[in-house]
Amino acid sequence: MLDCIFCKILNNELTCSKVFESDQILAFNDIDPKAPVHIIVIPKKHISNINDLNESDRKLMGDLIFSAKIIAEKINVKESGFRCIFNTNNDGGQTVFHIHMHLLAGRELSWPPG
Ligand code: AMP
Ligand code: ZN
Repeated sequence: MLDCIFCKILNNELTCSKVFESDQILAFNDIDPKAPVHIIVIPKKHISNINDLNESDRKLMGDLIFSAKIIAEKINVKESGFRCIFNTNNDGGQTVFHIHMHLLAGRELSWPPG
């Protein structure tokens, strides 16, 4: 997708600090971390956000969420805990319109969010 930052990362036009990769999913460190651990998990397929998911994306998104378990084990935050977030559109605070899951960890996260 033209002008999509995350597609540029996928096409190696931009670099990233990779944490996990499978045939359909890539995870990398957020460039502006909001917690000691802040990882962005994306499907390699360009989808803008949850609103644009198709029935055929159910398996892909299940795999994407499952990757949080794999990553949490890998970086050793499984027991301490972590938070997974999908921001959607303006009120959700979405700024990059390639669907992504934030995986935040490494400190006690407050609730509710701002
Ligand atoms: P959101 O506001 O939910 O759309 O989240 C977008 C996230 O992408 C923000 O946390 C940004 O810091 C992060 N981000 C933007 N550009 C990059 C990049 N080139 N590499 C890694 N993370 C990025
Ligand atoms: Zn994209």
